[in-house]
Amino acid sequence: MSTKSVLGEVREVQLAIQLIHLGARLQFLESEVGLSRERLIRLYKEIKGVSPPKGLLPFSTDWYMTWLANIHSSMFYNMYQFMKTHSDEEKVWVLIKSYKLYLQQIEAQESEPILDFTRAYTMVRFFDSDMLQLSTCCRCAGQFVAHAHDHKSGYVCVLCRPPSRAGKARGSERAAAGEIAVPGMESIGLAVESALDGGGLH
Ligand SMILES: [Zn+2]
Repeated sequence: MSTKSVLGEVREVQLAIQLIHLGARLQFLESEVGLSRERLIRLYKEIKGVSPPKGLLPFSTDWYMTWLANIHSSMFYNMYQFMKTHSDEEKVWVLIKSYKLYLQQIEAQESEPILDFTRAYTMVRFFDSDMLQLSTCCRCAGQFVAHAHDHKSGYVCVLCRPPSRAGKARGSERAAAGEIAVPGMESIGLAVESALDGGGLH
């Protein structure tokens, strides 16, 4: 992608700044932002004060299936999907806005974010390439991240069937056990609408 106009370039720089603040890795920046690698590295250093970390994105779909990660991932993906359906913005901006919304929700529940931006982005790619799906829990009707092609009928989510050690967990895990519910589509809708109206997401 090349940036031909000054305004186009400003937009790319703004996008890069947003992404770097959210913790995006260099590989992601290079694939999503139309600036040279050298400029991205300079921007990264200016904003973060350090060079971008090296190495590949190391994740597999299994990470999203562990108990606490699954709760956070499902919450994020429900928001992302809702926003994608109700917004005509570019995909990368939908991703940025849904991730900010996820951070807001976590902050409102006085908990710690478990899903970092790179994992959120990687998860969206896993969904796009049909490696993950949303399965509906037969007890609470919430939609949760699951391996693609798993049986959909009789699925019970991690909240309705938490592991036995979950009750003994502490800190953010305890908060997640009792207080973080994957919001229903109605509450996601309200949150997303206020976000799209320009409420605090910029
Ligand atoms: Zn459930």
